Amino acid sequence: MKVLIVGGVAGGASAAARLRRVSENSEIIIFEKGPYVSFANCGLPYHLSGTIKEREQLLVTSAEDLHKLLNLDVRTNQEVLSIDRENKTITVRDLLNQRDYAESYDKLLLSPGASPIVPPLPGVDHEGVFVLHNIPELDAILEWIKTHQPKRAVVVGGGFIGLEVAENLVELGLKVELVEMLNQVMAPLDYEMAAEVHEHLEMHGLELHLGDGLKSIETGSESTLLVNTSSGLNIPADMLVLSIGVRPNSNLAKDAGLEVEPRGHICVNSRMQTSDPNIYAVGDAVQIDSCLTGKPTFLALAGPASKQGRIAADNIAGRDMSFRGVIGTSVVKVFDLTAASTGLNTRQLKEAQIPFDSVTTFSHNHAGYYPGASQIHFKLLFGPQGQIYGAQALGVSGVDKRIDVIATAIHGNMTVFDLEELELSYAPPYGSARDPVNIVGFAAANILRGDVEALQWDQFDDLDADKWLKLDVRYPEEQAVLSIPDALNISLPELRSRLNELPRDKRILCMCSTGQRSYFAVRILRQNGFDAVNLTGGLNIQKTTRKPEKTMKQPDLPLTTEPVQSFSAEPKVEYQVDACGLQCPGPILKLYTKVKEMNDGDVVQIKATDLGFAKDVEAWTKSTGNTLLDLKMAGGEVTARVQKGLANPVESLGLAQLPTPTVGKDLTMVVFSGELDKAIAAFIIANGFASLGQKATLFFTFWGLNILRKPEPVAVKKNFVEKMFGWMMPKGAEKLTLSQMHMMGAGTAMIKGIMKKYNVDSLPEMIRTAQENGVRLLACQMSMDLMGIKIEELMDGVEAAGVATMAASATDSNTHYFI
Ligand code: FAD
Repeated sequence: MKVLIVGGVAGGASAAARLRRVSENSEIIIFEKGPYVSFANCGLPYHLSGTIKEREQLLVTSAEDLHKLLNLDVRTNQEVLSIDRENKTITVRDLLNQRDYAESYDKLLLSPGASPIVPPLPGVDHEGVFVLHNIPELDAILEWIKTHQPKRAVVVGGGFIGLEVAENLVELGLKVELVEMLNQVMAPLDYEMAAEVHEHLEMHGLELHLGDGLKSIETGSESTLLVNTSSGLNIPADMLVLSIGVRPNSNLAKDAGLEVEPRGHICVNSRMQTSDPNIYAVGDAVQIDSCLTGKPTFLALAGPASKQGRIAADNIAGRDMSFRGVIGTSVVKVFDLTAASTGLNTRQLKEAQIPFDSVTTFSHNHAGYYPGASQIHFKLLFGPQGQIYGAQALGVSGVDKRIDVIATAIHGNMTVFDLEELELSYAPPYGSARDPVNIVGFAAANILRGDVEALQWDQFDDLDADKWLKLDVRYPEEQAVLSIPDALNISLPELRSRLNELPRDKRILCMCSTGQRSYFAVRILRQNGFDAVNLTGGLNIQKTTRKPEKTMKQPDLPLTTEPVQSFSAEPKVEYQVDACGLQCPGPILKLYTKVKEMNDGDVVQIKATDLGFAKDVEAWTKSTGNTLLDLKMAGGEVTARVQKGLANPVESLGLAQLPTPTVGKDLTMVVFSGELDKAIAAFIIANGFASLGQKATLFFTFWGLNILRKPEPVAVKKNFVEKMFGWMMPKGAEKLTLSQMHMMGAGTAMIKGIMKKYNVDSLPEMIRTAQENGVRLLACQMSMDLMGIKIEELMDGVEAAGVATMAASATDSNTHYFI
C-alpha cells in the first residue's frame, strides 16, 4: 500500500510513525512544504526569551532520522498543489527548484494544519510585523530583535500564543502592550477567571488594551511603528506580533471537491475519513464533534491532532478505530500563574442552552504546612444531575494536574458526586487529604443536595436592598483590603451570638474572601431558620472584576527591585514574616498582627505564596495609612516591605505617587462634639451630600460617640470605672444638650419645639435618614476603648474603625470637616 501524507508536523508525523508500526510494508511518503518536519511549534515562543536556549532543541527530529528509524520517505520543501481523486494522484511542487511532479496513492492523509490570520489592514506588511507559527517565522523575529534591538513591542491577540509571545518578550526586557478585541484574554476562561489573569499580567508590567482592535500600522517618528487601534490609541512600538487566531489550510481539500464546512474546516467522520473514503484528514484543519454538546466543533491543539493521526493511521492499515471527539482541554503558563481549563465554559453552555450551575473554590495545591503551598482558584460547571461540563483553574502549581483529573472525569462520564469520592494520591508535598478536586466536588454536591445556594459574582451588584441583606463574615481587619459599605459585618466567630441582629424577612447573602467561611455561615444561618445564600468564590472575585476593563492601565506600583517609595524615615527595626502557604486572608491577618505590635517607622518584610496578596497589601497599606516600600513577585512568591505609619502623610496616602491623582467629591467629617446643635449640623451636612449622590463618612470620636449610643440599656461586661463613665454620659441623640443657652434644659427643649413646628426632622430622624442614604457611620475604636463604650451599645449599622479607615476615606474626599 502506498500512503501519502501532506504535512509533516503534529498530525502528519504522528500518523506516519503509527502507520509504520502497524504496516511495516507500506510505502509512506511525507510532503512538508516547510524546511523542517516534526518540529516543536508549541515551544517556539520560549526560544524568544532564551528559556529554551538552543534553536536545535525545537527540532525534535529530522527527515534523515525518520528515514533511518521508521523507513519513512520525508520530503521537505515540497508543497502539494492539487489532488486528482479520480486518478488517485497528487501534484507536488519542489520549492527548491520550482519543479512540479505527480505522485500516486492508495490512501492519502491530509494534515495541513492552520495558518495565522493576517487581517488586510494598512501597514500589516511592514517588515517589523510578524506572526509566529513555524521555525522560519521564529528566525525572522530573532533576526529583527538582533538587528533592531527593539525596546517596545505590541502583541495583537490575547489567546494562548499571544500571551506566550508577550510573556517571553517581557522576559527579554521589552515593554509590551497587548491589544485584544474581546474584554478578556483567554477565551476559554470565564470573565472572572480571566480577570485574575489580567491582574497578573499587569503586575508583570504588561499593558493591556482590552475591548480594542488593531486598525492600522504606520511608520512612527521616534519608533519603528505606530500602532493605531479602533479606540484611537497610537502606540509606538519597535515590533508587532499578530496572533489573532488561525484559519484552517483546507484549500487543497476544497479544490479537490471534498466536503468542507462554511468556516473552512474539512469534514470527517469518526474514523477521520473525509467525504472521499480514500482520503483521511486530521489536526487543525478538520471539524470534529464535541463530546459534550454532540455538535461539530474544531480545536487547534496538538493533543487532538496527534491522536487523530494515530487513529487515521490505524484505519488506513485496515483496523477500525474511532475518534470520540474533543472536550477542549488546555493549559498555559502566564508568568508565575498557570491557567488551565477543560470542557465548556459559561458562554458555551449558555449558547448550547444547557442548564447548569457553577461553584468556585480556593484551596491549597498541597498541604498548607509544607513549604511552597499556594492557592488554586477552581471553578466547576455542572448540570442538575451532577454531570460535569467543565472546569477552569488558576494557580502557581498543581493546576494542570487538577484540570487533567476533571478532563478524565468528563471523558468517563463521571458526576460531581464521583469527584467527592475520588481517591487521589496524597502526601504533604503533593496534595491534601481532601484534594482541591474533592473540595470542588463537595462544593458542587452541596448545592445539588440543597445544603447551600450559590450566588455568582456578577449577580452581586443587582441585589434589591429591600429583599437582601449583605452579611460580611470576614474579620474587621480584612475590611481594609476591600470594604463593602452596604454590608453588615459580623465575623464568623461572632455569628452564633449575634443572630438577633439579622432579619428574618430578607434573604441574607453571606460573603467572605473566598466563599469558604461564608459557606460555614450559611450553614449556621440555615439551621437557625434564616434564608441564607453563599457568594461563591467570595470577595476575591469582586476585587478582580470590579474595575472596568477600559480603565486598566500599567499598575501604579510596578513590581521592580527598586523601592516604590523612598522616605527619609530610616527603618528602626526590620522584621520578617513568613506567610507562605497561607490562604487569603491569612497573609493580611499576619501582616495586621505584626504591624500592630511594631512601632512607627519599623519595617516588616512579609512573604506570601497567595499571589492575590500583591494587590491586597497595596490596598491594605493605602487604607490603613501604612507605607508600602516595595513589592516583588518572583517564583510564585510575593514579597512586600511595609513600614508602619506614614513618613510623609500626603505622599503615603497615595496622592503624590499616583500618575493622575484622583481626589473624590465625597465628604469626610470627624464628629468630636456630643452637643445637640453640632450633631444636628453634622447630619444636615451629611444628608445634603448623600442627597447629591455623594458618599459621606462620619467618624465619631470622644464625646461624638454619645450621639450614637442606644437609649436603652445594653447588657455588656464593664468594669466599675467604665460603668460610671457610661452612667454620666448622655445616652444617644435624644439626651444631647445645646452647646450654648442650655438654660437647665429649657433652651434645648425650645430648639426641639421649634424644629417640630417648622417640620424639621429631629436628630434621631436625621440619623435614620443618613443611614438609609448610605452615610457611613464609623465609631473610633480608640475613643471607645478609652471611654469604656462597647460597640453593642451603639446604634445598629455603626462600624468600629481605626483612624486608618477614616484616613483612607479621606483620600477619596475633597470636603473635610471637624465638628
Ligand atoms: P501543523 O502541526 O501546523 O502541521 C501542518 C504542516 O503542514 C505545516 O508544517 C505546513 O507547512 C504543512 N503544509 C500545509 N499545507 C501543505 C501543503 N499543501 N503541502 C505540504 N505541506 C503542507 N497546541 C497545544 O496543544 N499546546 C500548546 O502549548 C501549543 N502551543 C503552540 C504554540 C505555537 C506558537 C503554535 C503555532 C501552535 C501551538 N499549538 C499548541 C498548536 C499545535 O501546534 C497545533 O494544534 C498542531 O501543531 C496542529 O497539528 P497539524 O498537524 O494539524 O498542523
